[in-house]
Parts: sequence; structure tokens; C-alpha cells
Amino acid sequence: MFIMDQVRRRGIMVGCDFKDTCHFLNKKAIAMPLTTLNLVESFCRSDFASCTIRRIAMTHGIDKVPRYVSPDDKYELSNRIIEF
Ligand code: SF4
Repeated sequence: MFIMDQVRRRGIMVGCDFKDTCHFLNKKAIAMPLTTLNLVESFCRSDFASCTIRRIAMTHGIDKVPRYVSPDDKYELSNRIIEF
């Protein structure tokens, strides 16, 4: 089951314009439901401007975001990708 399936089931509103193409929502199996849904609530529903996946996508395109990047990824590599 992908994260988006749970999002729809729970009726969580996603405001981000990458909601249909984002790998985090659409390709990632839900492993830790509470942690994952907290990320969705924090980033996808309201504070999507702070999402690392979105920040990379805005610069390089959603198809260029590495699959290992998560919304709250603060690793230096992700910041380098954004600045590249
Ligand atoms: S994870 Fe980030 S890019 Fe993907 S839908 Fe949520 S806020 Fe948008």
C-alpha cells in the first residue's frame, strides 16, 4: 500500500501541486504509518514550501528528485542538489 492510498482513505487534504507526481506519496510503501502520516500532515498539507522533495523539484524537476530524499531531509547532499 502506498502512502497516497492512506492519505485518500483518511481524507487528508494535500495542498502541494506535486501531489500526483511526487515519489514520496505515490511510490513509497507505507512502513511506519504514524511517522509517515505526520510528515504528510506537516509538509504535504500545509508547509509544502519547506519540503526538501519539493524544493529540489522546483529547481530540477520532480523526475530528478532522488528516491531516497524525504520531505524532512536535511542532509547536506540534498542541499547541494538544490544549490547545484
Ligand atoms: S512530499 Fe513534498 S513534494 Fe511530495 S507532495 Fe508532499 S510536500 Fe509535495
